[in-house]
Parts: sequence; C-alpha cells; structure tokens
Amino acid sequence: MTRYAAIEAGGTKFRVAISEDREIVADTTIPTTTPDETLSAGIEFIQSNGPVASVGIACFGPLDLQPGSATYGSITATPKPQWSHTPVLESTRDALGVPVAIDVDVGGAVLGEWKWGAAKGLSHVVYLTIGTGIGGGVLLDGKVHHGMGHPEMGHVTLEPVPGDDYAGHCPFHGTCFEGMASGPAIEDRWQARGTDLAERDDVWELEATYLAQALRTFTYVVAPERIVIGGGVMQVPGLIERLRRKLAGQIAGYATSAIRDGNLDRYVVYPELGQDAGLYGAVALAMQAHAG
Ligand code: ZN
Repeated sequence: MTRYAAIEAGGTKFRVAISEDREIVADTTIPTTTPDETLSAGIEFIQSNGPVASVGIACFGPLDLQPGSATYGSITATPKPQWSHTPVLESTRDALGVPVAIDVDVGGAVLGEWKWGAAKGLSHVVYLTIGTGIGGGVLLDGKVHHGMGHPEMGHVTLEPVPGDDYAGHCPFHGTCFEGMASGPAIEDRWQARGTDLAERDDVWELEATYLAQALRTFTYVVAPERIVIGGGVMQVPGLIERLRRKLAGQIAGYATSAIRDGNLDRYVVYPELGQDAGLYGAVALAMQAHAG
C-alpha cells in the first residue's frame, strides 16, 4: 500500500486528503485566503499525516502547463487577488521533497472520472463543469490532453438564438459558452436568483440549447466516447434530459460513432464521483507522479 497526498485547490477552498492507494484515510478543508497561508496550511496537514510518496494537485486555473517552461505549475494571470504567478507546484515540492504532479481542476476531474467514475474503461472522454464558471477537460487515448498548456473549453463561440439579444457575461468575449451558460450568466440574463428560476421552462430550454451547441462542437472536434457533465447548474432537475434532446436535434442525424445508435443517455452523463471528482483526480495525479 502506498500513501499519497491529494490537493483540490479551488478558488474558495482547498481540500487536502491523504490516501492509501485510492482510499482516502484523512482529509481537511482549508479556506482559500492568501497563497502563503493556504499552501502552508495544506503542507502542514500533509506533514502531520505523512510521510507520503508523492502529491497530486488539481488546481484552479489558468496554470502554466507548458512543457519545459521555467514557471511550469504556477498559476498565471488570475483575477483572484494575490494568486497571480503563485508557484503552486514548486512550493509544494520544495516543502515536502517528494514528486508532485499538477493539472487544472477539470484535468484532474476527467482523470478521476476515467479511472474510477463515469468514464471507467473508455479511452476518449470529455469532462465539463457548468457552474460559477465553465471549464472542460479532454482525455484522449487514456491521457489528459494539454497541447501547449490546457484547453479553455468554456470560451468557445456560441450562436445566439434568434431574438436573444443578451450581451453575455464573459469579460473577454461576451457571448462565449461561459458568457451565455454559466450560473452567473443565467442569473444576470434573467435578473433573478437561480433558485427562483428552477420552475421556469423557458430558462432551461434556452440553457439546454446553448449547452447543446457547445456539446455539438466538442463532439465533432474531439469525437469522445462519452461526455461527463457536472457542476452546480447541472443539478437543476430535468436539465440533462433537455440537453440530450437538444443535442440530438442539433446533431440532426450527422453523428459521430459514439452516438450513431442515438443513445444519448449513455453519451451525456453525470459524474459518478460527484463533488469528489477533482479530489480523486488529484489522487490519480499523485499516483502518476510516483510512477514517474
Ligand atoms: Zn469567454
């Protein structure tokens, strides 16, 4: 049995866990304050529950994941005060003296869902989270896809439906995917709190339409076997069923092989690890770091 440390580094809280193989045996939650304070508290927890063979970190982005970069594993420019250019990987490795692997939160989540969750046994998977922001991870041939860094799937272009003149909520692109379909975009568009919109058919029909546009794009570009979709917005009852129907409509019979049989119930699914996808992803990253 090998002991690992896993960190799910989020914008509001850090979850830090110790696992024996994949089984979590201790964990704590630390509020995200300053980088020094938050990282030190995480490292202290690991030290007092160690020793560990390696550490995996699934971190909020954007991150520098460019191979060979001098600042690999650092947060790049983030609107989160004080966190820009924080060397998350380096400071963890220096403090603990063990191998550390890092990925963005959604990169960790796609890995976790592939190893132990809703995409077990597959080779090509897309993971999406629809919440305060929108992010996505891609796993191809059993490996998380990075390119020169990591994808930014929340910022792809959508086509506003006729009559929809909402300006969008993304500070960079207005009506991109995140700008149209994230939780804050929904509340801004309808000028109401999400909980007050739960029963509104028009709200979720439109949301499902935009989600389906993005899923059609990812379907055609990536050709995954499955799309795992979670996050706070997806907890709205009935939304995933609407999304499957809209996606079937938008694909309009021009399907990739994974959905040629029309079975979207198996193609678009919830995460199985739920809120723990990122944390288990961090465990999987720790295992990769240990294996070298
Ligand atoms: Zn955008």
